[in-house]
Amino acid sequence: MAEPRVDWHTYFMNIATQVSSRSTCPRKHVGAVIVRDRTILSTGYNGSIRGLPHCSDVGCVMEDGHCVATVHAEANAIIQAAKNGVSIEGAEIYTTASPCWPCFKLIANSGLRGVYYGEFYRDERSIEVAKNAGIALVDLSAAKAAAKAAETAAPGA
Ligand SMILES: [Zn+2]
Ligand SMILES: [Zn+2]
Repeated sequence: MAEPRVDWHTYFMNIATQVSSRSTCPRKHVGAVIVRDRTILSTGYNGSIRGLPHCSDVGCVMEDGHCVATVHAEANAIIQAAKNGVSIEGAEIYTTASPCWPCFKLIANSGLRGVYYGEFYRDERSIEVAKNAGIALVDLSAAKAAAKAAETAAPGA
């Protein structure tokens, strides 16, 4: 029997996961997709500054336990939209890992209204501030786990 048709959240998160496979930092592969009206406006993954060598070739630049050589996936998705002159005002972003604080600030000020993330990454502050900034911050890992559980509960259904 054919696989059930995936819902929109799963669809865009699956694409974000595919995008993450282009990441060049071995520390963490992250992918992001900016969406409005169920249409993809932009994508990004974490990687080095344009023209500079990749972490995967020359190693990461570590500071306080994090690689600082890369531009993050969410930032690159916003940058790609800017480079191409695509308005992202009022759009939403799907990212495989929740945004760090600097990325969250970019997301907020670029007019994105929602963030869907696949796993919690690190910044509690974003969660607190999102509410006040009027940005929906949605953890899709719980939805994914629930879907898996439902599958297990009804095998072959
Ligand atoms: Zn790196
Ligand atoms: Zn970030």
